[in-house]
Amino acid sequence: MTKRAHVVDLADLGSETLSLAGVFAPGEIDFSGDDLEQADVLEWRASVEGQTGGARFAGELRTTVRLRCVRCVSPLQRPLEGKFDLFFERRESELFRDRDEIELDASDTATAFLAGTELALDQVMHEQVVLALPMKPLCDPSCRGLCAGCGANLNLGPCACPARPNNPAFEPLLELKKRLERGRAD
Ligand SMILES: [Zn+2]
Ligand SMILES: [Zn+2]
Repeated sequence: MTKRAHVVDLADLGSETLSLAGVFAPGEIDFSGDDLEQADVLEWRASVEGQTGGARFAGELRTTVRLRCVRCVSPLQRPLEGKFDLFFERRESELFRDRDEIELDASDTATAFLAGTELALDQVMHEQVVLALPMKPLCDPSCRGLCAGCGANLNLGPCACPARPNNPAFEPLLELKKRLERGRAD
């Protein structure tokens, strides 16, 4: 599969709607700056609809990503689905020249994916995957995280750190420990 297969040229698009679909294998989209790995193929389907001044690109994607738990940093794998509905401004040379004067606003971020009239789908899918990520991925809702003292993964059992008396969460534990020690001394 060539890079060209991942580009949609909006130049010849009239007012018709095209149905498109494709697949990105892991590695074809650059996620190196994103704290995630693409663990499976990314499948997308979308309709491209020519509209005044540009094209609407709407559809969905699904893939599987490898992330890290925000509490214990162990790797976890999650299916991911995203929906998108984007508008890309057609940048025909004479139109583009006229629009140089226009101030940039949020909608211009969409045009960043365009080189001339070609839509770079790897960049579009990259952004849509990042937008669909969970805010705080957890390996388990009850993940105990890492010990702040020694960095041990507390899901694997207690660590050897002394309990810190300042932490009220440890007080019942300390009381229990004292009781146990007294019992043993008797
Ligand atoms: Zn965790
Ligand atoms: Zn510890």
